[in-house]
Amino acid sequence: MKVLHATPLAHLRFPVEQGRGRRYPELAHPYRNPFQRDRDRVVHARAFRRLENKTQVFAAGLSDHFRNRLTHTIEVSQIARTMASVLGLDEDLTEALALAHDIGHPPFGHAGEEILDRVMRRFGERFDHNLHALRIVETFENRYPRFPGLNLTFEVREGMAKHSRDFGPGEIPGLEEYLPGLRPPLEAQLIDLCDEIAYDTADLDDAYHAGLITMEQAASSSDKFRELDEAVSMQFPGAPERVRMHEVVRGLIDWLVSGLLEETLRAAGGLRDVDAVREYPLRLVQFTSAAKEGAAQLKSFLRSQVYESPQLTQGRQRSSLQMQRLFESLLEHPERLPATYREESAAQPLHRQVCDYIAGMTDGFFARTCSQWGL
Ligand code: MG
Repeated sequence: MKVLHATPLAHLRFPVEQGRGRRYPELAHPYRNPFQRDRDRVVHARAFRRLENKTQVFAAGLSDHFRNRLTHTIEVSQIARTMASVLGLDEDLTEALALAHDIGHPPFGHAGEEILDRVMRRFGERFDHNLHALRIVETFENRYPRFPGLNLTFEVREGMAKHSRDFGPGEIPGLEEYLPGLRPPLEAQLIDLCDEIAYDTADLDDAYHAGLITMEQAASSSDKFRELDEAVSMQFPGAPERVRMHEVVRGLIDWLVSGLLEETLRAAGGLRDVDAVREYPLRLVQFTSAAKEGAAQLKSFLRSQVYESPQLTQGRQRSSLQMQRLFESLLEHPERLPATYREESAAQPLHRQVCDYIAGMTDGFFARTCSQWGL
C-alpha cells in the first residue's frame, strides 16, 4: 500500500462538539471531552472488568496465553485506534466503542449467546449481546448518584446499537431513537471489521499454539498465509517455526488493516461531511475485494478446523447444557437469585431477570453457581 497522506478523512470525523449529548445533561469536564469521558466510564465499569473472565474462543484453564474477551477487546481497540488515527477520525469515540463492543457477551462466547436466545424465544423474546450491552450501560451499571447507568453520549450508544448491523424504522423495537435508516459515523463503522481482523488472526494464533492447526494446514487453506509464510521462510531461513508463525500472523493483520484502509478511503474519500456518511445507503468501511476474499478464506479454515473441532465442540456442548439447566433451575427457584438483584430488576418478568443474571456472569462465577446448586 502507498504511503497515505496524513488524515485523509479528517473532514468526515464526527465533531465531538456536535454530539447529541447525554440522556441526563451533565456539566462539561474541564479537560476531558465527552467521548474521552465515555471511554473512561467504560474502562471503569464492572461489566468491562468481567471481560477478563469471559471466554473468547478457548476456555480459560487450557492455557494462560489464550485471548480472553478482555485481551481481545484491547486488540480490537488497538487496531481501531490505528485506523482512526491514520484516517483522521475521532480516536476517542473509536476507542470508547471498541472497548464497549463486547461488554454484552454472556459467559462462554457465542455458545452462551445462542442458548440464552433459544430459551428466551420460548417467552416470545430474544437475547442479543449488542442490545444487552446497551442495557448494561443504560441500567445495570450503577455507580453515579445523579443517574442510572453510565449516561453515555448518544453517539456511543448509537454505535453500540449499530455495532454489527444497521436497521430501518420500526425494525427493532427499543432502538427507534438511534436514527434508524441512517448509517452510524465512520468511527462506529470501523469497529465491526476491526473486531473481525482481531479475532480471525488471534484465533489462528491461539489455535496454532493449542496444537489444533499446523502452519502447513493454514498455508493450504489461505493463499495469503502461504504467500506470507513463503516470504518469511525466505527472509529468515533459520527462524524457529513459532517465530515464523508470529511473523505471518503479524503480516496478516497488517495486510487486512491495509485492505480496510484502502477501500474505506476509496469509498468515503469523495463524501463531503458526516451527514453524507449517515445518508449513504451502504457502510463505507469496507475491505478491498482481495482482503475480503482473504478474510473469508481464513474464516472458513477456522470454522472447519477450529470452531467445529471436537476439542471445542465438546466444551461448548457441555457449557450449553449447563446454561440451560441453570436457566431452568433459576426459573423454578427464583429465591436463588440474590435479593438485591431481584429488588433492582423487579420491574422485569422473571425469565428476563434470569436471562440478564446469567448473561452478566463470568465463566468462573457461572461454574461456581452451577456447582453450588449441583447442576
Ligand atoms: Mg469482539
